[in-house]
Amino acid sequence: MRVELLCTGDELVTGLITDTNSPYLEARLFDLGVKVERVVLVGDVRSDIVQALREASSRADVVVVSGGLGPTADDFTLECAAAVAGVPLEEDARVLGWLRERYAARGVPINPSALRMARIPQGAEPVRNPAGSAPLVMLTLGGCRLFFLPGVPREYRALLDGEVLPRIQQSLESRSVRVFRAFRLLRTVGIPESELDLAVAPLVASHPRVVFGFRTHAPENHLKLMAEAPSQAEADAALAAVEADSRRVLGARVFGSDTEEYAPVLLRMLARAGATLSVAESCTGGLISQQLTAVAGASATFLGGAVVYTEKMKSAWVGVPPEVLERHTAVSSQTAAAMAEGVRAACGTTYGLSVTGYAGPGGGTPDDPVGTVYCALAGPDMATRCERMSFSGDRERVRLFAASHTLEMLRQHLLTAPQS
Ligand code: ATP
Ligand code: MG
Repeated sequence: MRVELLCTGDELVTGLITDTNSPYLEARLFDLGVKVERVVLVGDVRSDIVQALREASSRADVVVVSGGLGPTADDFTLECAAAVAGVPLEEDARVLGWLRERYAARGVPINPSALRMARIPQGAEPVRNPAGSAPLVMLTLGGCRLFFLPGVPREYRALLDGEVLPRIQQSLESRSVRVFRAFRLLRTVGIPESELDLAVAPLVASHPRVVFGFRTHAPENHLKLMAEAPSQAEADAALAAVEADSRRVLGARVFGSDTEEYAPVLLRMLARAGATLSVAESCTGGLISQQLTAVAGASATFLGGAVVYTEKMKSAWVGVPPEVLERHTAVSSQTAAAMAEGVRAACGTTYGLSVTGYAGPGGGTPDDPVGTVYCALAGPDMATRCERMSFSGDRERVRLFAASHTLEMLRQHLLTAPQS
């Protein structure tokens, strides 16, 4: 099934708002085994909408259109649809009834501009909107089924889930050749999207039944695998094979699959090792502690942490010797190591993690410019480990990646450390 999306609205092409309707639908369609072929954004220009509708409906089996169904003067998507279909707009008695009921329920008189929403292309079928006024309108143009939805995300999603997707699913199931599918999401950290793509690329040819998808969810990158086959058993087998190959090439950078999130995975690994953790944070200001404590039951393994943002607090709370700070500065491997060892000793935990760096936009030195971060891990029967990282991007991104990399040092250690 060929599906295209069309979103209308000046706000989408002038940088005012980002199109969030399309990603929502794309993800749901992908779960049904449909990869959207094209997404088009057009401003509120009649001739552009007419042309976009004409083109999309000539290529696709299904076109889902968002926006421009409301009562205001810039809402004319259905007018354009009628022009493409070569039919007039007609007041629809059903829609008129729904609008009257809706206004009556709110105890306000219906205003003349709201009545515009009852005018739909002749021959089109309306479906009541459970979350708003403008209805879903369905229209067939040649071999193409068009669905017109209000742009407001809440209404768009309600009509999509309740009305549009079930119809698409039904039409997929009624096709003579049934296709069975199996899915797996592999979640990685520490590998940029381009490298993930490169690492997986050699697998594509040997897995013809699999569609590979990539999704960035900073600081993570996800690989979405969908296998398609004439039977469920074959789809499951194709998925198992591609998952094994993907895990082989990606190795320990895969931390989880499907709905598994990073922090719970790490906390479970600590619990399995019978280990506890404490954290000393400088540039991340508590971000690591926040991520760990977002998981219910974290206290079984995560005992606590300290935000030691200034030199004074680095010495006072986690015992970084003032001469280390003086000689090597607060952003150095020596300070990071002393922070990890200090917090571990202060909290009496199996492991101590630390992070210190220049998140920007100011600060930094010629040797350690903005984005330089030192992360350290202290633990039993091991020399304290420290890594120097350079992250690009703004302050928020540097802090996010610094937190992720610090936690990742521990996860990688736990993967290889002998279990106590
Ligand atoms: P309304 O009855 O509110 O006028 P409508 O169907 O005419 O609904 P629009 O006027 O195009 O829809 O958009 C309504 C609001 O929904 C916009 O102000 C915008 O904030 C939001 N919106 C529209 N399209 C999208 C989109 N693709 N992604 C996210 N938000 C959107
Ligand atoms: Mg509108």
